[in-house]
Amino acid sequence: MARISADDPPMSHTVTPVGFVRACFKEKFAIPRQPHLAPAARGVLELVPPFDSGEAVQGLEQVSHVWLLFLFHQALEEKPRLKVRPPRLGGNQSVGVFSTRATHRPNGIGQSVVTLERVEPGRLWLSGIDLLDGTPVIDIKPYVPYADSLPAARNDLASAAPALIEVHWQASARLQAHTHGERLGEPLEALIEQCLAQDPRPAYQQPTPERRYGVRLWDVEVKWHYPQAGIICVLQVLDA
Ligand code: SAM
Repeated sequence: MARISADDPPMSHTVTPVGFVRACFKEKFAIPRQPHLAPAARGVLELVPPFDSGEAVQGLEQVSHVWLLFLFHQALEEKPRLKVRPPRLGGNQSVGVFSTRATHRPNGIGQSVVTLERVEPGRLWLSGIDLLDGTPVIDIKPYVPYADSLPAARNDLASAAPALIEVHWQASARLQAHTHGERLGEPLEALIEQCLAQDPRPAYQQPTPERRYGVRLWDVEVKWHYPQAGIICVLQVLDA
Protein backbone atom coordinates (compact mmCIF):
# COMPACT_ATOMS: atom_id res chain seq x y z
CA MET A 1 0.00 0.00 0.00
CA ALA A 2 1.26 3.51 -0.76
CA ARG A 3 2.75 5.61 2.03
CA ILE A 4 0.27 8.44 2.56
CA SER A 5 1.74 10.16 5.60
CA ALA A 6 5.19 10.55 7.09
CA ASP A 7 4.06 8.34 10.06
CA ASP A 8 3.37 5.30 7.84
CA PRO A 9 6.09 2.72 7.36
CA PRO A 10 8.21 3.48 4.29
CA MET A 11 6.91 1.96 1.07
CA SER A 12 9.25 -0.31 -0.76
CA HIS A 13 8.82 -1.47 -4.33
CA THR A 14 10.90 -3.80 -6.43
CA VAL A 15 11.99 -2.71 -9.89
CA THR A 16 13.08 -5.20 -12.52
CA PRO A 17 15.10 -4.31 -15.61
CA VAL A 18 13.28 -4.26 -18.93
CA GLY A 19 16.63 -4.69 -20.67
CA PHE A 20 20.38 -4.17 -20.60
CA VAL A 21 22.57 -1.84 -22.67
CA ARG A 22 25.40 -3.24 -24.75
CA ALA A 23 27.56 -0.14 -25.02
CA CYS A 24 30.91 1.13 -26.35
CA PHE A 25 31.93 2.03 -22.78
CA LYS A 26 33.53 -0.89 -20.96
CA GLU A 27 34.60 1.06 -17.87
CA LYS A 28 33.34 4.19 -16.10
CA PHE A 29 36.48 6.23 -16.84
CA ALA A 30 36.15 8.54 -19.88
CA ILE A 31 32.38 8.17 -20.23
CA PRO A 32 31.02 11.67 -20.88
CA ARG A 33 29.16 13.20 -17.94
CA GLN A 34 25.90 13.54 -19.83
CA PRO A 35 24.36 12.14 -23.02
CA HIS A 36 25.03 13.78 -26.42
CA LEU A 37 28.49 15.09 -25.43
CA ALA A 38 29.75 12.21 -27.59
CA PRO A 39 27.24 11.67 -30.41
CA ALA A 40 29.42 8.78 -31.70
CA ALA A 41 28.86 6.84 -28.46
CA ARG A 42 26.58 4.03 -29.53
CA GLY A 43 24.97 0.98 -28.06
CA VAL A 44 22.06 -1.42 -28.27
CA LEU A 45 19.41 -1.78 -25.60
CA GLU A 46 18.52 -5.48 -25.55
CA LEU A 47 15.07 -5.98 -24.08
CA VAL A 48 14.28 -9.01 -21.93
CA PRO A 49 11.04 -11.07 -21.88
CA PRO A 50 8.22 -10.11 -22.04
CA PHE A 51 9.43 -6.72 -23.41
CA ASP A 52 11.39 -8.34 -26.25
CA SER A 53 8.11 -8.78 -28.13
CA GLY A 54 7.45 -6.34 -30.98
CA GLU A 55 4.29 -5.19 -29.17
CA ALA A 56 6.23 -3.34 -26.45
CA VAL A 57 8.04 -1.08 -28.95
CA GLN A 58 5.21 -0.60 -31.43
CA GLY A 59 4.97 3.14 -32.25
CA LEU A 60 8.54 3.92 -31.17
CA GLU A 61 9.58 4.18 -34.83
CA GLN A 62 7.77 7.55 -34.75
CA VAL A 63 10.07 8.86 -32.02
CA SER A 64 13.58 10.31 -32.51
CA HIS A 65 14.76 10.35 -28.86
CA VAL A 66 13.93 8.38 -25.73
CA TRP A 67 14.43 8.85 -22.01
CA LEU A 68 16.13 5.88 -20.42
CA LEU A 69 15.69 5.35 -16.70
CA PHE A 70 18.43 3.06 -15.49
CA LEU A 71 20.36 1.78 -12.51
CA PHE A 72 23.88 3.01 -11.81
CA HIS A 73 24.66 -0.65 -11.19
CA GLN A 74 28.36 -0.01 -10.57
CA ALA A 75 27.74 2.75 -8.04
CA LEU A 76 25.04 1.28 -5.79
CA GLU A 77 25.53 1.99 -2.09
CA GLU A 78 23.84 0.85 1.12
CA LYS A 79 24.02 4.19 2.93
CA PRO A 80 22.48 7.17 1.16
CA ARG A 81 24.69 10.26 0.78
CA LEU A 82 23.22 13.70 1.46
CA LYS A 83 26.11 15.59 -0.08
CA VAL A 84 28.32 14.74 -3.02
CA ARG A 85 31.40 16.23 -4.71
CA PRO A 86 30.58 16.29 -8.42
CA PRO A 87 33.59 16.01 -10.77
CA ARG A 88 31.95 18.83 -12.72
CA LEU A 89 32.73 21.19 -9.82
CA GLY A 90 36.34 20.02 -9.67
CA GLY A 91 35.70 17.27 -7.10
CA ASN A 92 36.42 19.54 -4.11
CA GLN A 93 33.09 21.33 -3.70
CA SER A 94 30.40 19.53 -1.77
CA VAL A 95 26.73 20.14 -2.67
CA GLY A 96 23.38 18.53 -1.87
CA VAL A 97 22.84 15.26 -3.72
CA PHE A 98 19.56 16.50 -5.20
CA SER A 99 21.26 19.49 -6.84
CA THR A 100 23.45 17.18 -8.94
CA ARG A 101 23.24 14.29 -11.39
CA ALA A 102 25.88 12.36 -9.42
CA THR A 103 25.91 8.57 -9.73
CA HIS A 104 25.88 8.04 -5.95
CA ARG A 105 22.29 8.80 -5.09
CA PRO A 106 19.27 7.35 -3.28
CA ASN A 107 17.92 4.38 -5.22
CA GLY A 108 20.79 4.64 -7.74
CA ILE A 109 18.53 5.77 -10.59
CA GLY A 110 19.97 7.57 -13.62
CA GLN A 111 18.19 9.18 -16.55
CA SER A 112 19.48 9.99 -20.00
CA VAL A 113 17.79 11.26 -23.12
CA VAL A 114 19.42 9.50 -26.06
CA THR A 115 18.98 9.30 -29.82
CA LEU A 116 16.92 6.38 -31.04
CA GLU A 117 18.61 5.33 -34.28
CA ARG A 118 16.59 2.22 -35.06
CA VAL A 119 13.92 0.00 -33.53
CA GLU A 120 13.57 -3.76 -33.90
CA PRO A 121 11.49 -6.16 -31.82
CA GLY A 122 13.62 -6.71 -28.72
CA ARG A 123 16.30 -4.14 -29.65
CA LEU A 124 16.73 -0.37 -29.62
CA TRP A 125 19.79 1.05 -31.38
CA LEU A 126 21.02 4.15 -29.56
CA SER A 127 23.57 6.93 -29.94
CA GLY A 128 24.79 9.81 -27.80
CA ILE A 129 24.77 7.52 -24.75
CA ASP A 130 26.57 8.06 -21.42
CA LEU A 131 25.98 4.51 -20.14
CA LEU A 132 28.34 1.79 -19.11
CA ASP A 133 28.16 -1.58 -20.87
CA GLY A 134 25.73 -3.84 -18.99
CA THR A 135 23.64 -0.99 -17.53
CA PRO A 136 20.20 -2.29 -16.48
CA VAL A 137 17.39 -0.15 -17.88
CA ILE A 138 14.21 -0.02 -15.80
CA ASP A 139 12.00 2.03 -18.13
CA ILE A 140 11.95 3.72 -21.53
CA LYS A 141 9.85 6.77 -22.34
CA PRO A 142 9.53 8.81 -25.52
CA TYR A 143 11.03 12.30 -25.47
CA VAL A 144 8.20 14.80 -25.85
CA PRO A 145 9.68 18.00 -27.31
CA TYR A 146 6.86 20.37 -26.34
CA ALA A 147 7.05 19.31 -22.71
CA ASP A 148 10.69 18.24 -22.22
CA SER A 149 12.49 21.14 -23.95
CA LEU A 150 12.50 24.21 -21.72
CA PRO A 151 14.46 27.07 -23.33
CA ALA A 152 14.01 29.32 -20.28
CA ALA A 153 15.40 26.78 -17.83
CA ARG A 154 18.56 27.65 -15.88
CA ASN A 155 21.06 25.70 -13.78
CA ASP A 156 23.81 27.86 -12.36
CA LEU A 157 25.75 24.83 -11.08
CA ALA A 158 26.05 23.43 -14.62
CA SER A 159 25.32 26.34 -16.92
CA ALA A 160 27.02 25.03 -20.08
CA ALA A 161 28.61 21.91 -21.49
CA PRO A 162 32.13 21.32 -20.16
CA ALA A 163 34.91 23.15 -22.05
CA LEU A 164 36.65 20.94 -24.62
CA ILE A 165 40.37 20.39 -24.90
CA GLU A 166 42.40 19.85 -28.07
CA VAL A 167 42.92 16.26 -29.19
CA HIS A 168 45.93 15.48 -31.39
CA TRP A 169 46.86 12.10 -32.84
CA GLN A 170 50.05 10.26 -33.59
CA ALA A 171 49.69 9.25 -37.26
CA SER A 172 50.00 5.53 -36.37
CA ALA A 173 47.25 5.81 -33.72
CA ARG A 174 44.84 7.45 -36.15
CA LEU A 175 45.47 4.66 -38.65
CA GLN A 176 44.88 2.04 -35.93
CA ALA A 177 41.61 3.76 -34.93
CA HIS A 178 40.51 3.90 -38.54
CA THR A 179 41.25 0.18 -39.11
CA HIS A 180 39.53 -0.92 -35.90
CA GLY A 181 36.58 1.37 -36.65
CA GLU A 182 36.09 -0.27 -40.05
CA ARG A 183 36.30 -3.74 -38.49
CA LEU A 184 33.76 -2.82 -35.80
CA GLY A 185 31.49 -0.87 -38.17
CA GLU A 186 31.64 1.97 -35.63
CA PRO A 187 32.73 5.64 -35.82
CA LEU A 188 35.69 4.87 -33.54
CA GLU A 189 37.90 7.88 -34.40
CA ALA A 190 35.01 10.24 -33.69
CA LEU A 191 34.19 8.39 -30.46
CA ILE A 192 37.78 8.65 -29.21
CA GLU A 193 38.03 12.30 -30.15
CA GLN A 194 34.68 13.25 -28.62
CA CYS A 195 35.36 11.40 -25.34
CA LEU A 196 38.94 12.62 -24.90
CA ALA A 197 37.95 16.21 -25.75
CA GLN A 198 35.96 16.10 -22.47
CA ASP A 199 39.32 15.63 -20.67
CA PRO A 200 38.49 12.51 -18.63
CA ARG A 201 41.37 12.91 -16.15
CA PRO A 202 40.31 13.80 -12.57
CA ALA A 203 40.61 17.58 -12.13
CA TYR A 204 43.11 17.23 -9.26
CA GLN A 205 45.66 15.35 -11.42
CA GLN A 206 48.31 17.49 -13.13
CA PRO A 207 49.82 14.92 -15.48
CA THR A 208 53.42 15.08 -16.64
CA PRO A 209 54.02 14.34 -20.35
CA GLU A 210 55.45 10.92 -19.34
CA ARG A 211 52.24 9.81 -17.65
CA ARG A 212 50.12 7.47 -19.81
CA TYR A 213 46.33 7.18 -19.56
CA GLY A 214 44.22 4.40 -21.05
CA VAL A 215 40.62 3.34 -21.51
CA ARG A 216 38.77 0.49 -23.17
CA LEU A 217 36.20 1.40 -25.86
CA TRP A 218 34.44 -1.49 -27.62
CA ASP A 219 37.22 -4.12 -27.78
CA VAL A 220 40.19 -1.76 -28.10
CA GLU A 221 42.46 -0.05 -25.59
CA VAL A 222 43.12 3.64 -26.27
CA LYS A 223 46.30 5.19 -24.80
CA TRP A 224 47.05 8.90 -24.58
CA HIS A 225 49.13 11.47 -22.76
CA TYR A 226 49.22 15.21 -22.14
CA PRO A 227 52.25 16.59 -24.01
CA GLN A 228 51.41 19.98 -22.50
CA ALA A 229 48.63 21.41 -20.36
CA GLY A 230 45.29 21.46 -22.16
CA ILE A 231 46.32 19.13 -25.02
CA ILE A 232 45.79 15.41 -25.39
CA CYS A 233 47.76 13.29 -27.85
CA VAL A 234 46.41 9.83 -28.75
CA LEU A 235 49.33 7.38 -28.80
CA GLN A 236 47.86 3.94 -29.52
CA VAL A 237 44.60 2.18 -30.35
CA LEU A 238 45.25 -1.54 -29.93
CA ASP A 239 43.32 -4.77 -29.28
CA ALA A 240 42.31 -4.77 -25.63
N1 SAM B 1 22.68 11.21 -17.62
C1 SAM B 1 22.64 10.43 -16.41
C2 SAM B 1 21.91 11.18 -15.33
O1 SAM B 1 21.93 12.41 -15.33
O2 SAM B 1 21.32 10.53 -14.46
C3 SAM B 1 24.02 10.05 -15.94
C4 SAM B 1 24.86 11.17 -15.42
S1 SAM B 1 26.24 10.57 -14.56
C5 SAM B 1 26.98 12.06 -14.01
C6 SAM B 1 27.27 10.03 -15.89
C7 SAM B 1 28.35 9.13 -15.42
O3 SAM B 1 27.78 7.95 -14.90
C8 SAM B 1 29.25 8.64 -16.54
O4 SAM B 1 30.31 9.54 -16.75
C9 SAM B 1 29.73 7.27 -16.04
O5 SAM B 1 31.00 7.36 -15.45
C10 SAM B 1 28.70 6.90 -14.97
N2 SAM B 1 27.94 5.68 -15.31
C11 SAM B 1 27.29 5.42 -16.46
N3 SAM B 1 26.66 4.22 -16.38
C12 SAM B 1 26.90 3.75 -15.13
C13 SAM B 1 26.51 2.58 -14.43
N4 SAM B 1 25.73 1.65 -14.99
N5 SAM B 1 26.95 2.41 -13.15
C14 SAM B 1 27.74 3.35 -12.56
N6 SAM B 1 28.14 4.48 -13.17
C15 SAM B 1 27.72 4.69 -14.44
